[in-house]
Formats: sequence, structure tokens, C-alpha cells
Amino acid sequence: MEPKTMDVEALSKELTLNKKNGFFQVDDEEIARADQFCEDYKVFMDASKTEREATEEAIRRAEAKGFVPYDPTASYKPGDKVYVNNRGKSVMLAVIGEKGSREGVRIAAAHIDCPRIDLKPIPLYESSDLALLKTHYYGGIKKYQWTAIPLAMHGCVVLRGGKKVKVCIGEEPGDPQFCITDLLPHLAQEQSVKTLGKAIEGEDLNILFGSRPIRSEKGENLFKLNILRLLNEKYGMVEQDFITAEIEFVPAFKAVDIGLDRSMVGAYGHDDRVCAYPALEAVLNCCEVPQQTVITVLTDKEETGSAGNTGLESSYLRYFVHALAKQDGVDGHDVLSQSTCLSADVAAAYDPTYASAYEANNSCYLNKGVGVIKYTGSRGKGGTSDASAEFMGQVRDLLDDNNVLWQTGELGRVDLGGGGTVAQYVANLNVDVVDVGVPVLSMHAPFEVVAKLDIYMAYRAFKAFFDQKK
Ligand code: MN
Ligand code: MN
Repeated sequence: MEPKTMDVEALSKELTLNKKNGFFQVDDEEIARADQFCEDYKVFMDASKTEREATEEAIRRAEAKGFVPYDPTASYKPGDKVYVNNRGKSVMLAVIGEKGSREGVRIAAAHIDCPRIDLKPIPLYESSDLALLKTHYYGGIKKYQWTAIPLAMHGCVVLRGGKKVKVCIGEEPGDPQFCITDLLPHLAQEQSVKTLGKAIEGEDLNILFGSRPIRSEKGENLFKLNILRLLNEKYGMVEQDFITAEIEFVPAFKAVDIGLDRSMVGAYGHDDRVCAYPALEAVLNCCEVPQQTVITVLTDKEETGSAGNTGLESSYLRYFVHALAKQDGVDGHDVLSQSTCLSADVAAAYDPTYASAYEANNSCYLNKGVGVIKYTGSRGKGGTSDASAEFMGQVRDLLDDNNVLWQTGELGRVDLGGGGTVAQYVANLNVDVVDVGVPVLSMHAPFEVVAKLDIYMAYRAFKAFFDQKK
């Protein structure tokens, strides 16, 4: 008798994890919707290069959809839309649910600050007939990447007496731009043998800001004085006002399609606006009356560790949930204990050029959907909120039931490095939380790359989470 063979194709389909590229899993209409979704994403990106601008843009879009500033003394009914602007640098947007906050709230939290170059408090100086600005970089950067690229100047200056002036130079056609110089290769023999981390040091990140003096026979620092004169004309500021300013230099690039097939988007600051935008759109377009109150939090300061009153280590989210609870006649801590959160932050996309930094089986890939990341951290899961199997299970079912393309992965090879997200701070409020986000190539570089299909799947994930009835 012939031994019976098995249908391995069917068996494999039934038992093996599907890791196919998303292009084989969704139809042309879905691809077209993803491409369409990303057209507005690029508009959002160009309008939101700093946490202040992202907050302003989010509020502008929210007000257009009927959101109003939250009033803790008012009473709200299901379907009401409110927002809380935290000092112009972070924002929470909520739609009141059918059950209000009584059985917990659903939170999507993303960050809107990005690695960049900040000015020191006394930045302006002149040297060898050039006007320059001293800087202090913000967040984790490879410093050499920030030289010899066009930079734009964003932020605000608080003048004496408290008047605030907005600054934005280098984004409009015809605007001047700025840059940090690098050494020519001809003279870089000594620099080239330094390690990557030492070749350009923090104190080398000086911004080229001018090269013409005030024409005068006498006087010193005429190059610096000329810049001060121009700043005073434009903004009414004097040198002391740098101390009461927040000026951030960011890449002047616009968001563009990448690839001959236009399947990707290149931009400054995908981390984490590529999650902030879908989380924002999900709350703006969520079902009329969600079951539980839903909240999108767009937070600041993640890239420097979430400390500060606009970062998620602060109590602002907790205070808001407590206020919602009070209106519903329940205890804030009971609400938080029953709440769930998708911590929306980017994942490291597998890059074949740097394959040895990843473990291929447990990496996220472009075009395989939104990443659901159980834990981040470093060296033995240090500093992470490791999502429970139970909550992972709930999220898996939610995404599968809604045909949201998703994948999972770790942040690179074990013990190579690591990183964290805001998940741990939300988890500390006794909320069930898991990291969900878009895979990024060249993360933290001045120009990062993501896939359009993944951005759209992030939106569909947050929307399914907010619209969920159970
Ligand atoms: Mn991030
Ligand atoms: Mn980051």
C-alpha cells in the first residue's frame, strides 16, 4: 500500500504565519485609497514641522470638524467633540462616547516632536567674517547627517513684555535657508579616520547665518550686529530675546513621493507624525457616537524622554481623564484602570543594506502593514512596557476582524541598541497599552522614508479601535 501524503500547501496556509507583502493581500481599490490618503498626509507634514505647528494644524483641522475647546465645568453628551490644547505644544482630542468614560476610555497616543537642531540661549556670534549660531541638538541624531543640507528656521520669540512672535523662514519659495557646513573631502584626512560619532561633534553644529557686516569705519562685531539689525527689523527682537525664544532648525525639504512606483513618502519627521496624522484623522473621522469616549493624544518631548509638562511623563493626560470621569460621576482611577491605549509610534523597518542590525524573522518591513510591537526597550527589555498576551490578543482580533494589514517585529537585533516609546508612561497609569506604528527607513535622519500602504493601515487600525463596539 502506498503511504498517504499530505497536502502541505493547505497545511502551511492553515498553520503558518502569513508574512506576504501587502501588495499581494489587498486589492487595487485599497491601494488607491492608501495613495489618496497620503496626498493629504504630505500636506499635513509640510504644515507641521515642529510640535507647535503640528498642534496648531491639528486644532485647525479639528475645529473644521466641529471640535471645541474642552470646558471642565460644562456637561457633555455622547457624540460631543472636544480638545485640550496643552501650552501649544501638545493636544488631546476626544469624542464623548455612548457610555462616556464609565467603562474606560480608548486612547491613541503619538508624539509630534522630532529630532532637530535647537538654538542655545546665547546663540549669535561672529567668527572670521561670518555670522553663526551656536546650537544644541534635540533628540537622538547622527550629527554628520545634519551638515550640508538646507535648513529652515521655525519657532517663536517672546519679546520683553510678553508679546509672542512666530518665526518661520525657509519654507516659502524665495525664502532664504540655512545650513551647517562640513569639511571638504580634500582636507578631511584626519576627520575621515575618526569614528562616525566623533567626526562631527555637538559643538561643530553651528548654523551659517550671514556673511555681510554693517558698513562702518568703527565698531566691533559688525557681522553680528548686522544680523541683529535684520532680526530687529523683522521681529522687533533684541539679542536678549533669544533667551526667551524657542527656535528650532529643521530640514527645509518638503514631503515627496519616493520610488518610480510612487509607493513611498520621503519627509522630515515621519517619526512620529506618520502615526500622529493617522491617529488625528481617526479621531476626526470616528463614528458619530463611539461606544467609549475616544481620545487622540498628540504629545511633545518623546524624543528627549517624555519629561516636561508637555510630555507624557507629565500628568496632563491623567488630569483630563479624571475630569471626564468627574463629569460622569465616577472615579478617575477606575476609568484609567479599565482604559486601553494604542501607543502610536514608528517601528524600525528592515533595511537590507544594513541587514546585520536586524533579525530578519522578527523585523517590520515596508508594505507589510502597520506594526504591532509587543515590547521595545534595550538589553533584556529594559525600560519597556511589555504588552500582555491578553491585550495583544484583543488587538490582533480587532485588526484581523477589520481586515487591517498588520505585522510585528522588534527594534533590531538583541543587545545591539534599542529604544523606548510613550507606552510605558501610559502603562504606568494602569492602562492596557501596546505599541502600534508605521515602519520607517532611515529613522531620525533628516529625511525618513515610509510606505503609503502602511500609513493607511495605521489609520485603519486607529479607526477600527475607536469605532469598535463590544
Ligand atoms: Mn518615535
Ligand atoms: Mn524617535
